[in-house]
Parts: sequence; structure tokens; C-alpha cells
Amino acid sequence: MFLIFGKGKSGRAAARLLKKKNLPFWLVDDKTPNWRELLKKATTVVVSPGIPPHHEVFKLSKDLKKELIGETELAYRFWKGEIIAITGTDGKSTTTRLTYLILKEYLPQVFEGGNIGTPFSEIVLKNPSGVAVLEVSSFQGYTLKTFRPQIGVFLNFSEDHLNWHKDINDYLLGKYRIFQNQKEEDFAILNTTDEKVLNTPTKAKKILFGTFQSDIKISSDGWVLFRKEKLFEIQKLKIKGTHNVWNAAVASAIGRIYGVPSEVIKKVVYTFKGLPYRLQYLGRFQGIDFYNDSKSTTPNSLKAALESFDQKVVLIFGGQDKGADFSYLKDLFRKKVKLAIAFGENRKKLFETFKEVVPIFSVETLNEAFEVLRKHLKEGNIVLFSPGSASFDQYKGYEDRGKHFEELIKIVFAK
Ligand code: ADP
Repeated sequence: MFLIFGKGKSGRAAARLLKKKNLPFWLVDDKTPNWRELLKKATTVVVSPGIPPHHEVFKLSKDLKKELIGETELAYRFWKGEIIAITGTDGKSTTTRLTYLILKEYLPQVFEGGNIGTPFSEIVLKNPSGVAVLEVSSFQGYTLKTFRPQIGVFLNFSEDHLNWHKDINDYLLGKYRIFQNQKEEDFAILNTTDEKVLNTPTKAKKILFGTFQSDIKISSDGWVLFRKEKLFEIQKLKIKGTHNVWNAAVASAIGRIYGVPSEVIKKVVYTFKGLPYRLQYLGRFQGIDFYNDSKSTTPNSLKAALESFDQKVVLIFGGQDKGADFSYLKDLFRKKVKLAIAFGENRKKLFETFKEVVPIFSVETLNEAFEVLRKHLKEGNIVLFSPGSASFDQYKGYEDRGKHFEELIKIVFAK
């Protein structure tokens, strides 16, 4: 008997999968009064990625010696196809989408899912086999057991979700679990610039990226190379920033591993405009350029955004505090920020961190941030909205926050 804990998108998909397989289950959540009683009778507990490890269901399952897995692990047990699993602190969705777009041009059965949208259970439910390109978060990684991807990607690793995981090592463990069952014939694509990523424990063949010496690298004449083969020309990408060059490089290398012709890869990466709310160019209003990077929820993604600009920007940042430290960005702020406006729950912390580094305002809401913009902007300025923090202090999610930013531009500047 299965007990599915969490009635969200992935919990409901897990339920549909078990139903199709004629396996008995209960679908419960905190509001189910007798869930503890049901747990006692279950053999396997399936938790949704939204349930934090300090939730009682984890301890109770452990105490009662029940098997506890996540929805990704459950779906894996029924999947007969291959898996490409993409993880990291930042860039997962972008790399997952690009990999999917490249493979889809060449292979008959390719599916995109996991953290990016469609639960893996949904893919397994509808398709007998094929290649599943999965975005795997550390929350999903945390509850894996037998999961084995043919290709695992670890993009980067920095402080995040410290409000969810016990500590940074616990967060890292969530990522490492993705690679723990790989075999010699599998591949692990790893970023060389971070020791923790480079040293990911795995039996798989390691393919390295991130420096001039790695297997996937940037040539001096501006091309991305994979084992000496030219994959694409950096200048022709529409997506901005070095971080996106690496995202596209990793996706292209996966394409080559699957035999996708390099002409096809070029076509896909040259036309890809990026996902919404990821360093998205919104246009020029009253002579001012606006970029919406609402999906930036970590200091590392804020760093990547700032590094993507040659000129100094007017930055709006801040939001819900996840316990991350921003002080390592001081030098970068000095180089890239003309004026900063901190808003949201962590505004005071941000103000204190950067007040001696750049001109900075601290306001409560995005509406107030736009009041500051109205007074201080000049023609030719670039406004970057890259919160580097979660959105849940004032919004339902990063999309909701990103939409609010767009609305305010329309109200204040697009007259
Ligand atoms: P994730 O799914 O890991 O959150 P996304 O592709 O949705 O990643 O991008 C989230 C944020 O991180 C955006 O602000 C984006 O500009 C930034 N970003 C994307 N790729 C990288 C990367 N490789 N390194 C650092 N930041 C990145």
C-alpha cells in the first residue's frame, strides 16, 4: 500500500500513475485527519517535493521503518526509457528546455518534465518509453533511491534554500543523490569551476565544462567546442550572458552525445530567445531599457545577471530571505551597479550589506521602487529587475512578481 503525501500537481500525478498500474494508494495531506493512522498501514510513503524534510511525515516514516521516496523516484520505477537529469542551483530550466528542443529535432520520443512543469509520473503514465529530459531540484533529489540517469548534469552549486535544508551539506546531498546509482556507461556532465560539483561521487564517465581546458569549452575565436568539434558561435546566441553560453554548451553537448547533427544544434541555439522572466529584455520605454529577471532567486543568479552587462545598471532586488549571504557581491556591485533599490522582506539586510558600496534605497514594495525610479532615471539607463531572493514574501511566485514588474513599467513609463 502506498501513501502519497501532498495533493499538489506531482502528488495527483503519482496517484494517477499508481491507479493505472492497479496499485492501491491513499492520497493525503496535512488536512487529512487520519493520515498518521494510514501511514502505519502503508509500506511506501511518497512525498511531494514541496514537503520540507522537517515535516513530521519524514520522522514518522523513519520511526515506523517505512520506505520514503519522492514522486520522481516513484515514476522512475515504472519508466522503461532513458533519462537525462539536470540539476544545479541556477540554470536548470533553461538548460532543460534547450536540451529538450535540441533532442526533439532529431529523436522521435523526447519528453520534458520534472521541476520545470510536467511531473515525471505524467510522462510515464502516457508514454511507454523514449528519452525523458528532467529538471531535478534538490528537493526532488533528496528523496531519490534507485533513480539512475544515463546523463546527469550538475550545472553549479551555491548557497540556497537554507530555510528548507538543514545545512548546505544537506542541500548538496540532494544534488549528489542524482548521480549515486550511475554506472560506467553513463555520463556525468560537471562544472569544473566548483570543487563540490567537480568531485560529485559517481561511477559515470565525467564530461567537464566551465574552463578553457575542459571537454566542453570556449575557444579563443568565440566558439563553443566539445571534444575539439565546433558546436556554435557565441556571438550568434540571442540569450545574454556567459552563464547562458554554458547552459547552451551543455545542452548542445548532450545533443552531440545523442548524435544530433551540429547544423540542427546550431539552428536551435541560435533561435532560442530564453524563457520568460530569465534576464528577459522587455524593450525600451522613454529611452530606458528594461530587463525582467524575476526568476533570479539566489545571489548567484543575481551575480550572473550583473555580469551579463557591460554598462552599469539600475538594479531592483530583494524579496524573501532564504538565509543566503550577499556580501561576496560587493565588488561586482561597485563595477556594475549605478543605483540599487532594495525591496521586500530582506531589504534591511541588503541595505546594510551594500550601503557603503553603491547609492542604495530601501523600500517596502515594488510600487515604491518605481517611485524611486521615476525620480532618478535618465534616458539611456538600463533597469535590471533581478531579485536574487524568493518571491513568497509578497507574491504567489516568480511569475506573479515578474508580471507585476511588467505592469508597473506600463503604468509608469509606457505612457
Ligand atoms: P533554475 O531552473 O535553476 O531556477 P533558470 O534557468 O530558471 O534556472 O534560471 C533562474 C535564474 O538563474 C535566472 O535569473 C537566470 O538568469 C539565472 N541563470 C540561468 N542559468 C544560470 C547559470 N548557469 N548560472 C547562474 N545563473 C543562471
